[in-house]
Amino acid sequence: MPDRAESPTGATEKCGVVGVSLADRDVARPIYYAMYALQHRGQESAGIATHDGFQQHSHVERGLVGDAIDEAALEDLRGAAGIGHVRYPTSGGLNTCCAQPFAVSFKSGSLGLAHNGNLVNTDELRTELEAAGHAFTSDGDTEVIAHELARNLLDADLVRAVKRTMSRVHGSYSLAIMHDETVLGLRDPLGNRPLCIGKLDDGYVVASESAAIDALDGKLVRDVRPGELVVLDPEGGGFDSYRLVEEPKPAHCFFEHVYFARPDSVIDGSLVYEVRRALGRALWQESGVPADVVMPVPDSGRAFASGYAEAAGEEDADVEFAEGLMKNRYVGRTFIMPTQDERERAVRLKLNPIRSTVEGRRVTLVDDSVVRGTTSTQLVELLRDAGADEVHVRIGAPPIRAPCYMGIDMASRDELIAADRSVEEVREEISADSLAYLSLDAVADALDAGESSLCTGCVTGEYPYDIEDEETDREVARPEI
Ligand code: SF4
Repeated sequence: MPDRAESPTGATEKCGVVGVSLADRDVARPIYYAMYALQHRGQESAGIATHDGFQQHSHVERGLVGDAIDEAALEDLRGAAGIGHVRYPTSGGLNTCCAQPFAVSFKSGSLGLAHNGNLVNTDELRTELEAAGHAFTSDGDTEVIAHELARNLLDADLVRAVKRTMSRVHGSYSLAIMHDETVLGLRDPLGNRPLCIGKLDDGYVVASESAAIDALDGKLVRDVRPGELVVLDPEGGGFDSYRLVEEPKPAHCFFEHVYFARPDSVIDGSLVYEVRRALGRALWQESGVPADVVMPVPDSGRAFASGYAEAAGEEDADVEFAEGLMKNRYVGRTFIMPTQDERERAVRLKLNPIRSTVEGRRVTLVDDSVVRGTTSTQLVELLRDAGADEVHVRIGAPPIRAPCYMGIDMASRDELIAADRSVEEVREEISADSLAYLSLDAVADALDAGESSLCTGCVTGEYPYDIEDEETDREVARPEI
């Protein structure tokens, strides 16, 4: 869904966390490498906090991992326990005071927190904590969790304090926590955002995605379960697990599989690449259209298009799978386009059609999702200008009709192209010959999950949490697909 000037998507990826505990060597470098593997989840800031047995060290800067953390910082980050974070802001503004890990010393010791997710009762908790004498340095929700945990640590052991904190904070959170030199992983009771555990030769790691474990030559042990706390113990040769809250059903974010996660990550037991191919196959089965060539929107639509083309090819041997749009990888988020006209031309700089693949042919363009729809409109026009006879658009997810309150900065309701348009109206808006989205049932099938065990709030407008300050008109019509 290349939809914005600053990113190939209409939604922004939301934070990656990692925590590493080793038996007897500094963790800063392994954390740094793992953060590289999670860079796609956030590019605004990067930070590491470590503990050397005596004190906590931390380094947080704006920018990509390679720019934010240099050799000198890695040297200073001593200790065999640590956490790291790559951030795209979800709550708390775009500034370094909200960058993470959030590291602080309390009476109960030192704490570091790296958070992926979004609390839905931050204001209420902050007001209560302020009334109890807690002073805040940022407007982010991670600091609220840190204060709540610190308060609970005053009269409870670590596990009880975490459990008490979980009963107070509501919303989505996958956390890498460091309490003195103990590293913990914690996933919210609905398992909304991903978190997994891996084994290294001399320690353990928790990370948002298994690709970070691969980057350390580690072995994925399993996902952290919804409501589970894991306490890494490399010297004891393992980790302790506490299922602190058990809900009858999880609410995993289906969008992680559709867009956010790396294709080579395994999330909640499924390899993301295979899920995307299965979604592409299902898309053909639900809404296949005769065409000469099936092409992905690079890079987001690639796995979907390959699944779609494979299924199409089983019925029509003449259909070709081809890359018809070439991407300029050097047009990034920082590219400045001062006028609307120039912004509209951005797509031409970013994606250029291969005329011979397109000219005189019926084209099916496959993408993962559509948020604002701006880029879809431009791509259809681009393909027509390159001589396509027909342009059909197939989308590997249902229409996005409502905002996300769980940590994904999709867009506000009035920016979403499908918020108040039927599929036919969206088709008209983007000027495609035909348009079809995938059904929620097909998404649930591909994920081997009942629809009720997934969060589908951005599709249905029904969220797994009660939302503070939710935008009006929560009811969203079921998608007509
Ligand atoms: S609302 Fe959508 S993007 Fe947000 S957590 Fe739910 S499924 Fe994911």
